Amino acid sequence: MFLHLDMDYFFAQIEEKRHPEAEGLVVVICVFSGRTKDSGAVSTVNYEGREYGIKSGMPIINAKRLAPVGKSLFLPIDKEYYGAISAQINFLIRQECKKVVQSSIDEWNAEDDLAPKKAEVLKNKIKKELDLNCTIGVAPSVLGAKMAAALAKPDGLKTIDASEERKMIDESIVEKVPGIGPKTNQALQSLGVKQVKDLAKIDPIKLIEIFGRKSGTHLHNLGIGEYERELGPEKEQEEVSRIGTLSHETRDPQLILSKIDELEKEAKDWLMEMKKSYKSLSIIFITQDLKTHTKSMSFHNPKMWSQDITNEEKELVAAFLKENPANLRRVGIRFGGFLDRGGQTTLF
Ligand SMILES: [Mg+2]
Repeated sequence: MFLHLDMDYFFAQIEEKRHPEAEGLVVVICVFSGRTKDSGAVSTVNYEGREYGIKSGMPIINAKRLAPVGKSLFLPIDKEYYGAISAQINFLIRQECKKVVQSSIDEWNAEDDLAPKKAEVLKNKIKKELDLNCTIGVAPSVLGAKMAAALAKPDGLKTIDASEERKMIDESIVEKVPGIGPKTNQALQSLGVKQVKDLAKIDPIKLIEIFGRKSGTHLHNLGIGEYERELGPEKEQEEVSRIGTLSHETRDPQLILSKIDELEKEAKDWLMEMKKSYKSLSIIFITQDLKTHTKSMSFHNPKMWSQDITNEEKELVAAFLKENPANLRRVGIRFGGFLDRGGQTTLF
C-alpha cells in the first residue's frame, strides 16, 4: 500500500501556531517583491482566507482588497523556518515507513505494507510533536493515495481499497487528476473525455498520436485502471537537518550543546548511510519569539561523518549567544555541500 501525506495549508498553519493572536483570522503568507510596500504575490492562505476568495499566486494588493478589515494578518514568507519544520516531519516519516519519497516541502509519498496503521501513527506523531495537522490518503497506488488525500482535506485520513480506488479515479473529472494540466484537459474535453473512465473509450493509438507515446500510454492506462505502483526516484537531497525542542527556554550553552549533540548523531546516521561527506555545517537557533537564526561555517576539506565537530559547534553557539540576547526554544543542525565518499561531488 502507498500513503500520501500532505500538510494542511502548511506555511499558513505554521504561522498560526507562531501567532496565537491569529486564531480565527485570515492568515496570508506573502512573497513581497520589495518594489512597493504591497507588491508581490500570495504564497499560502489559511481556510478562513480561502472563504474570502484569496488564493495562492494572487497579487498581494488583490488579497488585501478581499480580506476583512481588522480580521486578517499578512505575513512575509519565512522559508528557513518552514524548511526546518519540514525536515522534522521528514524525519518522523522516515522513522515510520520503509520507502519514502519527499515530493515537495510539505508532501511525501511512502510505500509500506502496514500503510493504513502507519498513517494513523504518523498523523498522531505530527500532531503531538509539532502541533500541526496533516491529511493522509492510503491506497493501492500512488495516484489513488494522492487523490484520496485531496478528498479528505483538511485534517483527514482516508484509506481505500482497490475497488474504491478504481471507482474514485474512474468517476473523477480528468481536470482533478494530478499531472493532468490545463492544456491536456482542454484537449481531452475536445475528445469528449470528461471523467477518467471516458478515457477507456478512446483508441489508445489516437491518444498516443495526440499526446505522444509516454503521456498517451499513461492516459490509456488511467482509463483502464492500470495505476502506477512505484514510488519513483527521490531527488538528490542537498542538505540534511534535524531540529529539536529544548526541555525549556534557555541560553545555557551546556544545555544547548547537549541537544545539538543529540541531533548531530541523528543527522550523521543519515550521512553515514548515504556515504556522504560534507562541506558546510550550520546551527539553527529558534528563539522564544519563534524567529529563526542561522550560524554557518564551511570547510575547505570535506568532513566525514566520523569526524568530531564539538569545537565547531561550540564556536557557532558562542557566536550566536554573543550577538543575540533572546532565550532559545529550539535548536537544529544542518549539513550541506555533500560529496560522495570517493570525493566526487554529487551536487553539480
Ligand atoms: Mg499541503
